[in-house]
Amino acid sequence: MDWPISVVCLLGLLLYQVALTQVAFGRNTKLHAARAQMRRGEQALQQANDALRQQLDEIHVLQAKLNEQANRDPLTGLYNRRYLDDTLARELARCKREGQPLSLMLIDIDHFKHVNDTYGHPAGDEVIKTMARMLDARARSADVACRYGGEEFLMLLPQMPLDAALQRAEQWRNDFCTATVEFGDFRIQSTLSVGIATYPGDGTSPELLIGNADRALYRAKQEGRNRVVAFSGP
Ligand code: GH3
Ligand code: MG
Ligand code: MG
Repeated sequence: MDWPISVVCLLGLLLYQVALTQVAFGRNTKLHAARAQMRRGEQALQQANDALRQQLDEIHVLQAKLNEQANRDPLTGLYNRRYLDDTLARELARCKREGQPLSLMLIDIDHFKHVNDTYGHPAGDEVIKTMARMLDARARSADVACRYGGEEFLMLLPQMPLDAALQRAEQWRNDFCTATVEFGDFRIQSTLSVGIATYPGDGTSPELLIGNADRALYRAKQEGRNRVVAFSGP
């Protein structure tokens, strides 16, 4: 072959290679850019994911707080009746399964209307709060202290037989009637009455047990107040 033709061929080959390299370089640059964009997209997605997870955690905390609030009495912080209804059924079923007793104490402050009338409603609130603090402090971890009504409280005492419940109620009655509630210049003393019903002897359903604790409380009131009475038949 003539050398000019060879030179032209070589030049052509060179040009072809240069063009090829340029195309490859262009593609590589685009690929890099695409990868960088993808990484940025992944990072943004990860950030959005983290933010969502954090929001979900906050929602869970808020939900737990709301549940807790729905179960608590706002004045005393004790459990409310709604919570007790659910818990009593569950605890009673557990004690039945395990062959254990369960006691209920219905506690009512005596002549509370007189406290309100004499010292005022806010002073009455303070007496209720003192009572609640006392119950809360004396409850075992398995016990449920509940504000059952205005000046009425219910203690759910799983695995507690009648004699132990009587002893504890007597102790609490004594503690309460010897305590003084200070409210401004007032020194307030009150007493309380307690009715007790114990599973299995005094009932096998939540309704019957509460009803019988209430009957015992009624008797405590009738017999002169400031006393503990255990349910003992109709
Ligand atoms: P008893 O010895 O028979 O139980 O008489 P009592 O006066 O304690 O009972 P009564 O049911 O006649 O009165 C209860 C009073 O409790 C009436 C009501 O105004 C008051 N009360 C209910 N809830 C609250 C409260 O949250 N705060 C205050 N200060 N008083 C309340
Ligand atoms: Mg009362
Ligand atoms: Mg009452």
